[in-house]
Amino acid sequence: MSTTAVTPTGVKLPIYMDNHATTPLDPRVLEAMMPYLTTIFGNAASRNHSFGWEAEQAVDKAREQIAKLIGATSKEIIFTSGATESNNLAIKGVAEMYREKGNHIVTQVTEHKAVLDTCKRLEKYGFQVTYLPVKPDGLVDVEDVRNAITDKTILVSIMYANNEIGTVNPIPEIGKLCHEKGVLFHCDAVQAVGKIPVNVISDNIDLLSLSGHKIYGPKGVGALYVRRRNPRVQLNAQIDGGGHERGMRSGTLNVPGIVGLGAACEIAMHEMESETKRLTELRDYLRKRLEEKLDYVHVNGNMEHHLPGNLNMSFVYVEGESLLMGINEIAVSSGSACTSATLEPSYVLKALGLGDDVAHSSIRFGLGRFNTKEEVDYVADKLIDVVLKLRELSPLYEMVKEGIDLTKIEWAAH
Ligand SMILES: *Cc1c(COP(=O)(O)O)cnc(C)c1O
Repeated sequence: MSTTAVTPTGVKLPIYMDNHATTPLDPRVLEAMMPYLTTIFGNAASRNHSFGWEAEQAVDKAREQIAKLIGATSKEIIFTSGATESNNLAIKGVAEMYREKGNHIVTQVTEHKAVLDTCKRLEKYGFQVTYLPVKPDGLVDVEDVRNAITDKTILVSIMYANNEIGTVNPIPEIGKLCHEKGVLFHCDAVQAVGKIPVNVISDNIDLLSLSGHKIYGPKGVGALYVRRRNPRVQLNAQIDGGGHERGMRSGTLNVPGIVGLGAACEIAMHEMESETKRLTELRDYLRKRLEEKLDYVHVNGNMEHHLPGNLNMSFVYVEGESLLMGINEIAVSSGSACTSATLEPSYVLKALGLGDDVAHSSIRFGLGRFNTKEEVDYVADKLIDVVLKLRELSPLYEMVKEGIDLTKIEWAAH
């Protein structure tokens, strides 16, 4: 980056604190990948020479590393181009394969677009989808899942942890319920894998999506876990060709990417405990510092069932765009989804019942492996400074401080 500056406390600007969007590649992962980007370039499907065998060996090792992290066996891991593809393959693959059995799918409104838009596509082809609401704390109600399942239901797709508000759903209970009802359970676990313990056996998960670039691995590689026993899950392939990955996903394997994903999983497994402790402390410290100096801030999402590195906060009576401009040397996400050209408030925050203005004034802090205490201090100082300044200019804030109930005001029409 050409615009790097360094603060008096040695913090390099800009600060990256958006680790739910993507994570930097861990240097140890890059090191593991390097040979496969250079000298060991074989096609893992080449059975006739050592170039192919070496590549295949590397892929087998990665399969083991990934399987181990989530309590699966290596034969149950299907490599994909990322979690968007994994979600598409899981949901469309099951929908097509089990069409005779039923046409109903259950999911929730706060899923990632890769799940929601896949379900919307299936609706066009005659499937029925129930989009469950979430509670004000962002968690799905297990009883809602139970009540939504009918004799036509073939799949439940509920995410492990939310990418905006960091909430962790009651996955083992949902999985158990699905198994009792004989319905397959898919889980988008992109934000949970490598961050908190995930185990497909004790969590009763049948299909699980994960992604390399959310766990300090490379972009453009992911995996889908597909259960082989109790029950054996079958899928209709979405990409046809040479029959790679047990016929479920054709295409020459991205060997360096897969090696990187495997290495990333192994590192995450070894460091999960210490990293959870460190990130939880940093996160709570950031929250405490902000709450000490600022009133009218609130935290979004259940904080008890929560990812270690996530903090989503609303800074009420501050205009969202001005807030973001004021902290432009800090890379975070706002409660405005800029997926479209217009500035739409985040559908996840709206699902919690937040108004548009509150959603717009919300910030998602995504702390990760390479964030430091010094960075957190810089971010806290900066936010406090900017929010106080903006509130000095805010007539709404002034009125609230004077004890005026804003809900009772009749605003002049214009
Ligand atoms: C990032 C993300 C995805 C998409 O993963 P890609 O590998 O970028 O396609 C899906 N679900 C969740 C929850 C995510 O955070």
